[in-house]
Amino acid sequence: MLKLYNSLTRKVEELKPVSDKTVGFYACGPTVYNFVHIGNLRSILLYDFLRRALEYSGFKVKHVMNITDVGHLTSDADTGEDKMEKNAKTAMDVYEVATKYTRAFLEDMNALNMLAPHVMPKASEHITEQIAMIKKLMARDAAYESNEAVYFDVSKFPKYNQLTGQKLEDMMLGARQEVVQDPKKRNPVDFVLWFKAVGRYRNHILRWDSPWGAGFPGWHIECSAMSKKYLGQPFDIHAGGVDLKFPHHTNEIAQSEAADKKPLANVWVHGEHLLVNEGKMAKSEQNFLTLKDITDKKFNPLAFRYLTLTAHYRTKLNFTWDALTAAQNALNNLYQEISGYDEPKVGCAEFEQHFEEALNDDLNLPKALAVAHDLIRSDYPGHAKLQSLFKFDEVLGLKLRETWELSRSSDTVRSLVDQREAARSAGDFDTADELRKKVDDEGYLIDDTSGGPLIKKKFK
Ligand code: AMP
Ligand code: ZN
Repeated sequence: MLKLYNSLTRKVEELKPVSDKTVGFYACGPTVYNFVHIGNLRSILLYDFLRRALEYSGFKVKHVMNITDVGHLTSDADTGEDKMEKNAKTAMDVYEVATKYTRAFLEDMNALNMLAPHVMPKASEHITEQIAMIKKLMARDAAYESNEAVYFDVSKFPKYNQLTGQKLEDMMLGARQEVVQDPKKRNPVDFVLWFKAVGRYRNHILRWDSPWGAGFPGWHIECSAMSKKYLGQPFDIHAGGVDLKFPHHTNEIAQSEAADKKPLANVWVHGEHLLVNEGKMAKSEQNFLTLKDITDKKFNPLAFRYLTLTAHYRTKLNFTWDALTAAQNALNNLYQEISGYDEPKVGCAEFEQHFEEALNDDLNLPKALAVAHDLIRSDYPGHAKLQSLFKFDEVLGLKLRETWELSRSSDTVRSLVDQREAARSAGDFDTADELRKKVDDEGYLIDDTSGGPLIKKKFK
């Protein structure tokens, strides 16, 4: 019984999929105008852990994550600049930027051993679907048009504040940062569904024809249109970082429900932020870090993955280089430990049960990780521990199997160890020491146990 905290109801609830066959899971992906930072990656890792946990629990999952490649406007009311179009002169320039950073993002995902979502739709390739939804909202009188834009009319959607639980007046304060200063906008909290390529946006490069003239979609409509297309409505789980609760997810809910008269998604999962040196990551500050900054310092990217496992997804996690070093050491110890285990066999039911309980408890990954460590410290034989650890790693994704296989010593090392054993039996300890050194040079350690020499790969 997998239970998750649902931000919409503010309760931990048992997951009951709409269809008992497949869980529909939509996650808000990155805006590809720059490299993603490690905060973004914490959220994307959460999606990966959640999907893996669902599969571990026996659900089949359809995982959709969008790529935002159009219409990411700054919240600066004066410039209203589209970040995707900075320094671009043609549509090709914009797409080149998007392609470059999408590729870099996919490389990061790969380095962090994330499973590829089943569908990664791009906003720019789903304009027809977005226009269709806006047309529906216009037909239902939930939207209106001015000379500059088409707006969603929040007054037509009384449950607008259901996700934030805030008063509408307080939400307006946040909404004021929206880009358009349009005398025809009825209510500050109304948000743009379609920007016309006029006025401030007359030079907007990416533009499409629409019933309201040439222009481009607003910030939120892509997720409503694409989640519906790939998962239907309602679907099961919608996820994102906490900053997306408002306005992004609030607006997604409003427009989808107003258009189709049914809920958008049943469970809303929001991941807390990653801080760097206790602060919010900002481009202008020294604390804007990418995965490359981590690998440039010779850390294994999976050390970052490990670090994110150490905090529950609903608590803030503070990134420091010391914390990453500790994560790397813990991971190396884990690798070293399992490298001495024999071929996996049987498994430890008791620990597997604890592991599953931790996942079911609102995806308590720190607890799940602790179960893995408890298992290692237990008295079970290595082969049994390994069997269970490989199972746990279907969720943890720390590449335990690959690393263990890699650590199976090569023929050369095995032969050196055999020669050393022979030398020791013959009392030739000088030769035995030389052979130990050769094994060491090959990157392996010999642990002389009562059951004979154990060979372990060095991970430091
Ligand atoms: P964006 O590219 O800004 O749309 O963000 C992509 C994902 O990263 C979204 O789910 C955001 O909520 C999330 N995100 C942004 N900043 C952070 C952060 N500091 N920590 C964790 N997640 C973040
Ligand atoms: Zn979204």
